[in-house]
Amino acid sequence: MWDASKCDLCGECLAHCRYVDYDNEQAARDIKLLMEGKEADILKACITCVSCNEYCPTGADPSNLIFKMQEKTGASPVVAAMKGFLDMMRDGLEGRKGVGQVIPGDPDKPALSFDSFEFSQFPEGTLDSALFKGLTVVRGPEYMSLVGCVHMGGESFVEKYARDVIGRLADVGKDIVYIHNEGYLLAHLKAKELGIEVPFRYQHLFEYMLDFLKANPGSITKLNKKIAYQANCAIRWYRQQDTWLAEVFDQLGVECPPRKYSGVDALCCGGPILGANKELAVDLQERNIKDALECGAEALITICPMCDMVLGRPTSQFGLPKIFITDLVRIALGEIPWPGQ
Ligand code: SF4
Ligand code: SF4
Repeated sequence: MWDASKCDLCGECLAHCRYVDYDNEQAARDIKLLMEGKEADILKACITCVSCNEYCPTGADPSNLIFKMQEKTGASPVVAAMKGFLDMMRDGLEGRKGVGQVIPGDPDKPALSFDSFEFSQFPEGTLDSALFKGLTVVRGPEYMSLVGCVHMGGESFVEKYARDVIGRLADVGKDIVYIHNEGYLLAHLKAKELGIEVPFRYQHLFEYMLDFLKANPGSITKLNKKIAYQANCAIRWYRQQDTWLAEVFDQLGVECPPRKYSGVDALCCGGPILGANKELAVDLQERNIKDALECGAEALITICPMCDMVLGRPTSQFGLPKIFITDLVRIALGEIPWPGQ
């Protein structure tokens, strides 16, 4: 959450933003305008990648300030392009559209939350995997993770609906495993920022997968592959996720060779700007995939259904197999083959 008291107007955040060509002075000027509640050019240029948070040396959370002002002013092509989708999400959260689904599982096992995603947005057979055997499953617009609304000009959704979403998940009466990291971040970071108590235990998908892999070492065949990994923007809010994922990769016998676009320098999947600036989105995707191929990766691993969807066409165009993270586990379990085999 934006904290003006931590900002010394150094300008580091926007001076490093790869979507504008600012020096520190211009960057500080834009941040100051936003702090005063005024429009600034960055609102139009920002693709909501969250990187500036990592460039800010004081933890002031500049991307949150930018997202708030994008919503308030409407001065962002992302806001205009995604308005219809955001309205649909609002209807779902307020109970005017869609019905949440709870599919009961074993009494002693946790529930797997799909947030607002459709099951069809995950690879076919995901729920047939031994990885998720016996889990209760919950999904629907009422369980939306909310933090991703910043890509649609809906930053205020977190504050407005977080308590309701957490309350509905509490009503499921189980520990929750979040298959999408934005749900985890709502419980683990945003709820705390807003002073909302989370009355259930919860796990990130990567934590859950690690527990499973360590408990079932005999079921896994090491893959011995080189892969590249597509971080979604939500990784930038909580870097511990990278550490968990590195352990998962280690358990599965996959290696991430060094590449240009990784860590802080990772490229956005292009999803938030596909409707507002397709040319830039396609350029980002192509640079990203070429970089993955150049580092010797045999596949690109996605962890977010949106990244997975928007990278489907370009990865196939460049002949780079794309594998959703849960399918990588399924391959190691022998449930499905490596793509193309
Ligand atoms: S969120 Fe990304 S695109 Fe937006 S200002 Fe920050 S670094 Fe630039
Ligand atoms: S938000 Fe952080 S990086 Fe940006 S100007 Fe303020 S202190 Fe500097």
